Amino acid sequence: MSSQTIKEVDAVVLGAGFAGLYMLHQLRSKGFSTIVYEAGDGVGGVWYWNRYPGARCDIESIYYNYTFSKELYEEWTWTSRFPEQAEILRYLNYVADRFQLRSDIQFNTRVTAAHFDEKQHKWMIHLNDGQYILTRYFITGIGCLSAANVPNIQGLQQFNGKWYHTGHWPHEKVDFTGKRVGIIGTGSSGIQAIPVIAKEAEQLTVFQRTPQYTIPARNHAYEEDFIKETKKNFEAIKRSMRNSVSGTPFAQNQQSAMEEPDDKRQAVFEKAWAQGGFAFSATYHDLLTNEQSNEKAAEFIRSKIRQIVKDPVVAEKLCPKYMYGTKRQVLDSDYFETYNRENVLLVDVKESPIQKITGEGIQTADNHFDLEIIIFATGYDGMTGPLFKIDIRGRNGVSLKEKWKDGAAVQTYLGLTTAGFPNLFMITGPESPSVLVNMPIAIEQHVEWIAECMHYLREHDIDLVEPTIEAEEAWSTHCRDVANATLYVKGDSWYTGANIEGKPRSFLIYLGGFDYYTKYCNEVAQNNYVGFKLMKLKSIS
Ligand code: NAP
Repeated sequence: MSSQTIKEVDAVVLGAGFAGLYMLHQLRSKGFSTIVYEAGDGVGGVWYWNRYPGARCDIESIYYNYTFSKELYEEWTWTSRFPEQAEILRYLNYVADRFQLRSDIQFNTRVTAAHFDEKQHKWMIHLNDGQYILTRYFITGIGCLSAANVPNIQGLQQFNGKWYHTGHWPHEKVDFTGKRVGIIGTGSSGIQAIPVIAKEAEQLTVFQRTPQYTIPARNHAYEEDFIKETKKNFEAIKRSMRNSVSGTPFAQNQQSAMEEPDDKRQAVFEKAWAQGGFAFSATYHDLLTNEQSNEKAAEFIRSKIRQIVKDPVVAEKLCPKYMYGTKRQVLDSDYFETYNRENVLLVDVKESPIQKITGEGIQTADNHFDLEIIIFATGYDGMTGPLFKIDIRGRNGVSLKEKWKDGAAVQTYLGLTTAGFPNLFMITGPESPSVLVNMPIAIEQHVEWIAECMHYLREHDIDLVEPTIEAEEAWSTHCRDVANATLYVKGDSWYTGANIEGKPRSFLIYLGGFDYYTKYCNEVAQNNYVGFKLMKLKSIS
């Protein structure tokens, strides 16, 4: 390390998305000097990077926003039910300006490493420009899906055309007009992009490994009266989201799908299909715990695919056979209809695997497909991937990657902290409800808890907070027990890490319900942070 003067702050926050922006706002209001580092040249996080055609949120806009400020909620008007990426990005820029956050955000800066210095009892943060910064608290707000997965397919470097990953889309428009385009991947990103690209490209070839259960989003513009009513009901909406299982104001039907007569169940599914959005997954409480109920939902969606897609061979290839919901249920706009277009071709790569990428396109076991553009909609190394991209080292120089290495289960306390890494907080970290809750609401809960915790520590002259091994073992066991009672763990998806070659399989999302989780976290705080070691430097040295 050089002898340069090292800047020091109370808190370093990583990422200027929903999490980082609100964390900064909270810490400032409590008088902590804070700096946010952001790799991009603007705010937005996932909504800054995911600019691919068709990108939109799958949570309704009136719920997919901050609730910490009534004024903000009243000032901002969403235009449609499921907001487009550009609109969400505008919203987050508005928030950054509204609360004058930019002055404490350093853009175009990547944190490469964060090491806990045991002599100073502080974190030394290493930046990509060679600078260092010292901080008492280190807080990650880097999301669960920011480490893009570009599969290691032989020959990509030889490809003469252009290629893109959906999560690192260029800022300028990619023109597909008159082009032969190939897209690999049919998760949420691929399913949103395919119908839009198909309208522009000369030919779109979809390389599908696993078909998906997707429900029509039924997006529409909002009416003025509806928005007025929503704003009027802000407090009630906020309360119901914050006290709910999923961070949205929707109650789940408490009935089992198997208790319902066939005709009634069919009518319930039909209604949810017509309504669009996530209503379908809330039709019965046991779709993800009872295999028979699950199969009823799965078969309903397959029947819809067979109705929509005209070519029965293509329709059958598009019918998923795995358990409904064990991969994230997708919302789409005209996805299955797109396969009725003459310029769209479906290639089943389980039947005929991709062998290599050539200068001119993609070679599968049976065919060569000439392409000018290849799009990787191949997802992310979820949950731990973003954290592992940074060399985070706690006590004794042990890295997070080593602590959670191959097969050794990830262990956290509350999905927020981990033993051996004092004063590290992970917003929406592994083993918290994160991606199975409406994210802005999950983020607000974490941010407020962290800020309160830091305030408490300062008020009590406590310098370090770190979970005990016992507390984190108990939390991780509870987390696994809850997950193991569901069908989620049986799926091969980024939820379980099965999408990344060699990644140990583990389900790292807390499924006990957002309401229960919030109550639990609050009780930990009210009981003087039970499960944490609270350390005063005076008594350490
Ligand atoms: P994803 O759900 O993980 O889907 C990746 C797709 O790529 C899958 O179809 C996968 O097939 C395929 N794939 C991966 N490697 C492949 C290979 N080597 N060869 C062929 N196919 C391959 O990723 P995503 O679509 O980016 O979505 C990730 C998550 O981001 C979503 O679940 C959601 O939580 C979030 N997201 C949300 C929205 C929204 O709000 N609307 C939009 C986009 C993303 P397999 O299934 O066989 O692995």
